[in-house]
Amino acid sequence: MNLVILGPQGSGKGTQAEKLAQKFDLEHIDMGKFLREVAVLGSPLGKEIHEIINVRKELVDDKILKKVLHLKLQDLSREKGIIFDGVPRKQDQLEYFEAAMVEFGRHIDKIIYIKLSEKESVERISKRRICDKCKKVYIFGRDIEREDEKCLDCNGNIIHRIDDTPEGVKKRLGIFETETMPIVEYYKKQGKTIEISGGQGVEKVFEDILGELGDIE
Ligand code: AMP
Repeated sequence: MNLVILGPQGSGKGTQAEKLAQKFDLEHIDMGKFLREVAVLGSPLGKEIHEIINVRKELVDDKILKKVLHLKLQDLSREKGIIFDGVPRKQDQLEYFEAAMVEFGRHIDKIIYIKLSEKESVERISKRRICDKCKKVYIFGRDIEREDEKCLDCNGNIIHRIDDTPEGVKKRLGIFETETMPIVEYYKKQGKTIEISGGQGVEKVFEDILGELGDIE
């Protein structure tokens, strides 16, 4: 099974992708997470990515994305299903994403689109924190009560993601609307998009996704 999960910032797509990966034994390709890891390396590519995602708060260009996608797909056995988290995110990517699917003998079964209002998205992101070591996500007020708490898994520091500023979120929401929604629509025309309300608890969202996926293998 090959899935794509898309949704605005704070929609919980990363959490749901992780749960789906566990349930169906899928490889979780989280493009944003991978790019953030490269961005802290200090290499020329890392510096370039840091400038794009953390300073300009834009999308990474096609040349980089295409290379990363190929590297990820090359390393995987074809029997292993994938959940693509946050890719394809815009029209240009759709073209080489589809070409890569053909090249690597895969096809996309479903697109999971997690809907969330702008208001809720901004509210959730203001509460989002991340472990600076293992990248586990925490919600302030739900998972942690104080800013100086340590990561439960690795004892790392819990911090704000650098791109999670209010103006950064607004900019990324705008990009989601103009660049990513056409991808959702493209797959909707093929009958592959399932729409899920993200304004519910994690387990209810997961239950809704499983219900909509039905019995695809
Ligand atoms: P995310 O973790 O999904 O919020 O992604 C964080 C950042 O990584 C985005 O704001 C983009 O700058 C970059 N990024 C992630 N996925 C893509 C993609 N498919 N295309 C271009 N840039 C991406």
